[in-house]
Amino acid sequence: MPEKWSNWAGNQRCQPEAIEHPGSEGEVVEAVRRAKDRAQRVKVVGGGHSFTDTACTDGRLLSLQRLNRVVVVDEQAHTVTVEAGMTIRLLNRELAARGLALLNLGDIDKQSVAGAISTGTHGTGATYGALATFVTGMEMVTASGEVLRCSASEEPEVLHCARVGLGALGVVTKVTLQCVPAFNLHHIERPRRFDTVLEDLDEAVAANDYFEFYWLPHTDSCAIIANNRTDEPVREKSAWKRWRAEVFFPNVFFGALVKAGKVAPSKIPRLAKVVADSLGNTELLNRSDRIFISTRLIRFVEMEYGIPRANAAEAVRAVRALIQDNDLRVSFPIEVRFVASDDVPLSMAHGRDSCFVAVHMARGVDFEPYFRGVEEIMTGFGGRPHWGKMHFQTAAELAPRYPEWDRFLACRDRLDPDRRFANGYLDRVLGR
Ligand SMILES: Cc1cc2nc3c(=O)[nH]c(=O)nc-3n(C[C@H](O)[C@H](O)[C@H](O)COP(=O)(O)OP(=O)(O)OC[C@H]3O[C@@H](n4cnc5c(N)ncnc54)[C@H](O)[C@@H]3O)c2cc1C
Repeated sequence: MPEKWSNWAGNQRCQPEAIEHPGSEGEVVEAVRRAKDRAQRVKVVGGGHSFTDTACTDGRLLSLQRLNRVVVVDEQAHTVTVEAGMTIRLLNRELAARGLALLNLGDIDKQSVAGAISTGTHGTGATYGALATFVTGMEMVTASGEVLRCSASEEPEVLHCARVGLGALGVVTKVTLQCVPAFNLHHIERPRRFDTVLEDLDEAVAANDYFEFYWLPHTDSCAIIANNRTDEPVREKSAWKRWRAEVFFPNVFFGALVKAGKVAPSKIPRLAKVVADSLGNTELLNRSDRIFISTRLIRFVEMEYGIPRANAAEAVRAVRALIQDNDLRVSFPIEVRFVASDDVPLSMAHGRDSCFVAVHMARGVDFEPYFRGVEEIMTGFGGRPHWGKMHFQTAAELAPRYPEWDRFLACRDRLDPDRRFANGYLDRVLGR
């Protein structure tokens, strides 16, 4: 009986014909050739942290977990080449040991390097791009079973397209990342009123290196998070204070609201007000990756849309109206982040400074009415869904939102004309 696979959130499952764990690039080549000989499709899975069925297949599933080594570090240029299955967690550790860091990160570190960049994973910070914008070179195994290297000087068109590749162009085996000297961040989280946050938004985004906020539905309460680079040394908190700030409040205390909300949705608004009274009041000074990365113990399902930054306040107000007007019971905060414009064809921030609005629902709760409502709002702003998070869009709807859509498809036609790397998700979002 073939092994089953499911993602972190538990909302996607598949039964591949085989699951393989190659330990070298040569073994990836063999695996792709094996699939080709048997006329089977191939999909790679990284950390399985996407909410969409992007990593699902009924063909052969390749996990690159064993490809997790540092290949080369250029200390002058501050670049590092790593195997594509390395987790962001291990990457951060390897970089810190060499006095380096990534300029920005998302809020967890469980993803693989290739998986994170492939879906456009991003953090927050108005002048910083998504992780894919740090990529200066890649190596991949193409559908023909050949190894292809791309950089600014070798196959630059492939590099241009493959940085957010959705696994559609090949099996990425190595990634070269532009890093920066390690830095510390001063983290401040403070409660604010909903209207105050939106009125002061442009100033706050411009005044801080990394700014985001979240709003707790059914309340008037937000928390703003401002992370700024500092030359001050790390201020270690006691293990107890760290646990209280980083694990207890965001997971245990808030988790109680989520659990209670699942059992008795009608109580969510009242419970949310209790949680709102103790929202965000934290100050930390630590190494950048330790500030960026959070612990996520509660399982949930998420949708996130990138929209033009200028529409941020209007979009968040529209989501609040959607919840109120339809009497939706939402126990998770709405998270709002900011990302700089980039030139990556399938990046959600392609060609425009962006605001990302993320909505969540507890695992097992019907998210569709809420997510479809949010999707309609975001579509009105020309929104682009995060490739790794829930959405209901198809290729025909997505293509006009990406100016370089055809350029990506041309690269796909060249590298994978027989659609060896396709799956149901890619058939839906890119077309066959
Ligand atoms: C708790 C949680 C928090 C999150 N926080 C953030 C956040 O802060 N910001 C954000 O933007 N996103 C966030 N995400 C989404 C997540 O970063 C993305 O979905 C990411 O793609 C997951 O990486 P992964 O390694 O798990 O990839 P998977 O989900 O396993 O795969 C994603 C895609 O990449 C492809 N792929 C993986 N490896 C390769 C390879 N070697 N070669 C070719 N293709 C490959 C897969 O085929 C698939 O199409 C979060 C998700 C969760 C569950």
